[in-house]
Amino acid sequence: MNDVAGGQPSGPSPRPGKDLYFLLIALAARSRADCLGRRVGAVITREGRVVSTGYNGTPFGMPNCSAGGCHRCSQRDLDTTLRGGAYDVCVCVHAEQNAILTAARFGQQTLGAALTSTTQPCFGCLKEMLQAGITDVHYLHQWDPTEAYGDPALAAQYSALQTRFSTFEQVGDPAMDTPDLFAAVIGAHNT
Ligand SMILES: [Zn+2]
Ligand SMILES: [Zn+2]
Repeated sequence: MNDVAGGQPSGPSPRPGKDLYFLLIALAARSRADCLGRRVGAVITREGRVVSTGYNGTPFGMPNCSAGGCHRCSQRDLDTTLRGGAYDVCVCVHAEQNAILTAARFGQQTLGAALTSTTQPCFGCLKEMLQAGITDVHYLHQWDPTEAYGDPALAAQYSALQTRFSTFEQVGDPAMDTPDLFAAVIGAHNT
């Protein structure tokens, strides 16, 4: 039975805890990602309230990554030197970076904030989050820094960065992240 005003079912409905609520927001942000690489969404929160969101893609006014806007993203499957490296010349801004920069753009404080990402943050985002004063990190999908960076010294430095945060942990169930998580909604309302 539907409520006339909002189309919401009446009666009690499951209510997510804050960790899951922020994760769902990060996943919704990710639906806007336009990158040929892994699509990621992030949300920054302070005192349990949303400060900003971000998803990965090219900067304002630049052609989208999917339209060939990023040389590194479009060439990395062909050029092994670009795969897993050359991040400094990747024009795509990461989701976590975009969330930090959106907070800066609109004058929102990140000191003492928490960040939830759909993917464990990379080395670069981790150092930037630390420098922005973010204290708590949550992410849905995990990966192994030793495997990703192929250099034990870099993996050790990643771990050292990680220990600077009060919280650095996986949240949610990766199995919930299916391709049709938002597909029905987006498909029905895309204009
Ligand atoms: Zn890209
Ligand atoms: Zn990153």
